[in-house]
Amino acid sequence: MSGNDTPEVDILVIGGGINGVGTAQAAAAACHSVLLVEQNTIASATSSNSTKLIHGGLRYLESMQMGLVYEALHERETLLKLAPGLVSREWFYIPVFRHNKRPAWVVNIGLALYWALSVGRSRFKSVPRKQWQHVIPGLNTEHMTTLLAYEDAATDDALLTQAVARSAERLGATIQQHTAFVGASFQDNRWLIQLAPDGQNQKTEVRAKILINATGPWVNTVRQQITPLPPEQKIHLVQGTHLLLDRPCPAFVYVESEDDRVMFFRPWKGGTLAGTTETDFYGDPSKVHASKEEVKIILATYNRYFPEHPCSKSDILEYYCGIRVLPQYSDTAFSANRSAMLVCDNEDKPSYIAIYGGKLTTYRKEAEKVARLISRRLPAKQNADTGKISLT
Ligand SMILES: Cc1cc2nc3c(=O)[nH]c(=O)nc-3n(C[C@H](O)[C@H](O)[C@H](O)COP(=O)(O)OP(=O)(O)OC[C@H]3O[C@@H](n4cnc5c(N)ncnc54)[C@H](O)[C@@H]3O)c2cc1C
Repeated sequence: MSGNDTPEVDILVIGGGINGVGTAQAAAAACHSVLLVEQNTIASATSSNSTKLIHGGLRYLESMQMGLVYEALHERETLLKLAPGLVSREWFYIPVFRHNKRPAWVVNIGLALYWALSVGRSRFKSVPRKQWQHVIPGLNTEHMTTLLAYEDAATDDALLTQAVARSAERLGATIQQHTAFVGASFQDNRWLIQLAPDGQNQKTEVRAKILINATGPWVNTVRQQITPLPPEQKIHLVQGTHLLLDRPCPAFVYVESEDDRVMFFRPWKGGTLAGTTETDFYGDPSKVHASKEEVKIILATYNRYFPEHPCSKSDILEYYCGIRVLPQYSDTAFSANRSAMLVCDNEDKPSYIAIYGGKLTTYRKEAEKVARLISRRLPAKQNADTGKISLT
């Protein structure tokens, strides 16, 4: 039972990853009262375990996701302006070898398309052979035919997420970490929500007009804690692992992995962040960990391209494991649609909105879409443009 003194907010956001804090920021910018609850700490799950790129996604051109790439490239430019201390433009290198599945001319077409979709903001070039060792010292250039380079951007995903959370707070949102959502039921045109703050024996209650489920890989588990049961998007979860290797990293480098997929090396915390793998994930997302097979493939790929100082398990400084939320029934994880999907209980006047999947790069666009859905039930009192709010 809930008394009349139960606190009430316009919007309760569940989940403090990039999508949750982005939504809280957009909703607070529209002058709604917002409470965000995070069971752990801000950016403790997928949003601190990504490849940390702010990019259109060159590889998504292969699966013809032009709309996503165009939107993400546009957002990249916005984030470069809003968060210059957190997002930096970088040159990315693609060494092409005789054995590669994608020959240089194919990669060049991709880069030209990427440049066009970025409206000229992703310049690209071929690096002359005599500069190869200077640009990427230690790279194994045996059987290498071409070194291509193009511009994209990189970030610190956790810091970016925390900066968006701070911005949401400055706009008036309340963020409660170490507080799990445990259930909600819809009564008298409001949600009555149960929360379990860490370290307290008792659950607390809050009412909200709109419930946002931004719990990343937990999205369908959380859905089951809600009455009436909201609509569901069927998904499959795909794990991606990066290893932080105890080797200095000369540059941002894309290569083909031992199993012919795209793998990436980037400078990170003074070492080399190497990844990512893509393997189906089942089970509890909080128990995600690197499998022996993933570690083997990442180390073998690194050692093939940088054989001078090969790495073994003892050179791994940290493991980063994240889980992608992809729509079910896609052919392969690689070709699956990477755009976020929004699912709500009522298109005209939603009281429940769930965010499935998406990219770090496009969080602001997704949050704008959520804010537009919110406005169908709760008209915005004001509309500050998050595309003009600096992130520090
Ligand atoms: C390996 C990998 C690499 C990637 N690389 C990139 C990249 O380079 N660039 C890019 O743009 N995108 C990238 N992405 C995509 C991007 O990282 C994700 O789309 C994004 O981080 C998802 O954020 P989220 O907020 O939806 O989920 P999360 O960050 O997982 O946040 C969900 C939050 O909900 C909380 N939560 C769950 N249940 C509850 C509950 N009951 N109560 C309270 N809180 C709860 C969790 O603790 C968690 O903090 C990558 C993804 C992966 C997996």
